[in-house]
Amino acid sequence: MPFKTKRPNKPARTAKPAKRAFRLTYATMFDPPEELHTNFERALARVKADLGREYPLLIGGTERLAAAKFEDHSPINRGWVLGVFQKGAVQDAKDAIAAARSAAPLWSGTTWQQRVKLLRKAAALITKRVFEFAAADALEVGKNRMEALADVQETADLIAYYCDQMEKNNGFEKPLRNDPLKGYTAHNVSVLRPYGVWVVISPFNFPVALAGGPSGGALVAGNTVVFKPATDTPWTGYLLARCFLDAGLPPGVFNFVTGPGSTVGQELMSNPDVDGITFTGSYDVGMRIYQTFAAGKHPRPCIAEMGGKNPVIVSRHADLDRAALGVFRSAFGLQGQKCSATSRVFVEKPVKEEFVRKLLALLEKTSIGDPTARKNWLGPVINEGAARDFEGFCDELRQRGTILFGGRRITDGALAEGFFCAPTLAEAPEDHRLWKHEMFLPICLVAAVDSLDEAMRRANDVDYGLTAGFYGSTKEAQWFFDHVEAGVCYANRPQGATTGAWPGFQPFGGWKGSGSSGKSAGGLYYVQQFMREQSRTLVS
Ligand code: NAP
Repeated sequence: MPFKTKRPNKPARTAKPAKRAFRLTYATMFDPPEELHTNFERALARVKADLGREYPLLIGGTERLAAAKFEDHSPINRGWVLGVFQKGAVQDAKDAIAAARSAAPLWSGTTWQQRVKLLRKAAALITKRVFEFAAADALEVGKNRMEALADVQETADLIAYYCDQMEKNNGFEKPLRNDPLKGYTAHNVSVLRPYGVWVVISPFNFPVALAGGPSGGALVAGNTVVFKPATDTPWTGYLLARCFLDAGLPPGVFNFVTGPGSTVGQELMSNPDVDGITFTGSYDVGMRIYQTFAAGKHPRPCIAEMGGKNPVIVSRHADLDRAALGVFRSAFGLQGQKCSATSRVFVEKPVKEEFVRKLLALLEKTSIGDPTARKNWLGPVINEGAARDFEGFCDELRQRGTILFGGRRITDGALAEGFFCAPTLAEAPEDHRLWKHEMFLPICLVAAVDSLDEAMRRANDVDYGLTAGFYGSTKEAQWFFDHVEAGVCYANRPQGATTGAWPGFQPFGGWKGSGSSGKSAGGLYYVQQFMREQSRTLVS
């Protein structure tokens, strides 16, 4: 984060420990320095004064306009037109793939050191633009300011992390043992080499990190990229594309196309000239892409990061204040629209009532409204469809279950212009379908259980396996890590029961129906997925 604390002119000679510069992550965002607010507010005013511009496609390094357009409206107030975007057609997707194909030999032939240099430049530009970028993210997705700033900063950190990995591994060129040949000398090397053209399709909820992270990984590994953002978030996608292009990537190395998933997205996943794809989004679309992609002439890598139905287990030995705070932040942060959001809580019977009481006390104090305003923690859900789904799920819970808090849309005053939904806590019978269905909304289910074994059985009894949380003793936490089926696990964390991963600290990837690769973003084994191994034996 480009946030410098003021240094005294002369270094202090006292033994006082130096004040650490603030470093933004999802775990530190609850207590930012004052200047961060001031900078965000200034940037927000600048960005709001310039709404409604038209944005092009970026193909082969040039701007292109399409015949059809669409408006990007803010979920905070549907009357705010953020920008006008190109409704790309199938031919635009084909042209973007062709541009990426013709740039591929140049880019894969560029030294990895040069690619790292350019990508570090892109990461630095993202950081430099973080406040304007985050203001756009907040307006487009309905994130609060800290969530928006973190989404942007995480993107720069992900790209930097993949650059670090390239450097630490010498560009993945590694000497091997030379086989003992009588009369000859063998020289054996393992080299990881790029696949060629890589497609990146991102979801609406982290439109910067989940586009910039995979793109950064693919690019630094030597692939050229065609990127399509979600239709709800083209603006942040364009701002990201500008950072890559302004960093000096050669024409065609990074291409940006907007347009419907059903046409542009469909072409990107079915075009035989694509060598690899990273999709992040729902299980249904992800599995369709995974299967379609496998139907090509030969196998090609498909990294599909999909949904979650993330459980939290609270033991009778838990610190219940921590547990309630962690669940509150993870179930309702970003209006429950995180793939890592807590959606199911299993609490041991003796502490269930007290846990729920503490959670309700936090819910009572939740501030909802325009999330760009400092005082509001919760904003709107992404669109009218999501708000209608929210109402439908609440009806289902009223019919079979009990709503303990929330359960209604909020339409007071100016909020009627957006898609605001009350954070909702409910109980439901064990066979209620919503225990297994990803709602992706601010709705969390809670149940009492007789034992930790029962909690674990229910926690694992879903098709997903993304994140999971636990509150209890250290010994119990170890048992939880060993038994829970999830890629990202936390124990006793007040900053978030199941949310808040950061590159290099918590690699992020799903098991089961939540992810296809078993390797995690921002982790030790991620960037290698964008390359294939070639062993080289030269005999002299
Ligand atoms: P989504 O509806 O699946 O859309 C994701 C992306 O796929 C969008 O860009 C969408 O474009 C595109 N798409 C839709 N249909 C397509 C098709 N037939 N062919 C190719 N592309 C197509 O997901 P979302 O609502 O944006 O995001 C929420 C979901 O993402 C949740 O399930 C959440 O759990 C998951 N998610 C997972 C992770 C993770 O790391 N595992 C992270 C974040 C979110 P259009 O918008 O134009 O339709």
